[in-house]
Amino acid sequence: MRLRHLAIALVAGLTTWPAVAVGEEGRGTIERLYVIECGQGHANDVSRWSPGVNEGKPIDYVSNCYLIKHPQGYLMWETGVGDELAAVPEGRGSFTRWRLARTLASQLEELGLKAADIKYVAASHTHFDHIGNVELFPNAMLLVQKAEYEWPNPLGVGRFKPEHPVTKLEGDHDVFRDGSVTLLSTPGHTPGHQSILVRLAKSGPILISGDAAHFKENWDARRVPSFNVDRDKTLASMDRIAGILAQQKAQLWIHHDKPQSDAQKKSPAYYD
Ligand SMILES: [Zn+2]
Repeated sequence: MRLRHLAIALVAGLTTWPAVAVGEEGRGTIERLYVIECGQGHANDVSRWSPGVNEGKPIDYVSNCYLIKHPQGYLMWETGVGDELAAVPEGRGSFTRWRLARTLASQLEELGLKAADIKYVAASHTHFDHIGNVELFPNAMLLVQKAEYEWPNPLGVGRFKPEHPVTKLEGDHDVFRDGSVTLLSTPGHTPGHQSILVRLAKSGPILISGDAAHFKENWDARRVPSFNVDRDKTLASMDRIAGILAQQKAQLWIHHDKPQSDAQKKSPAYYD
């Protein structure tokens, strides 16, 4: 016990971030975590995410959705590319060509769920491959960082429909108030980027990155994509995540990493 507290103090001492508000009082767990395939991407030059490294090298990557089942309700983490892309077999996009093999709606249906069964929706940030299906859930409470919500899109208008119910967050958020699901403020890729930490009874704690890092190689080398809005904050967020992984003894799931995704079981199978 004393050792554990010492470790936490050491980790806390390495960072200027407030200690994450999970793990000490809250010891709740979620019931199930489903990994749902929500987009298949191909880019011709991976160095966009690693300036000066791997120039001209193509990459296949993924954008999954994650359905969290908690006794108080379902939370959808990330919503992938929009379901309408399933009707476009050749895919769409310039830098990355995105395709969608199966819609999110059909995969929820396979679980016996309707969009109305989802209580909360949270995405790591507002790039289109993460919020493509937000409006599948028009009545679900959006959990979004205020800085992301208020970040205007290139046309100067908001990124969410003003009528969509929303809770604007300013920092970490313990969704069910039992420590089982915590949104973590990890800005840098975008102004209000967030990651998520979930606790499972058998699988233990899992931290899902969002785009705090894009691929395992880039995480290991702490590479910052050229188009991130803030390089220093990106590096600080990666440090923060590393500290939380150590403090919580959590696994890191890197959102876009295809080899890692390929090794994960997919819905209707689940982690518990
Ligand atoms: Zn992304």
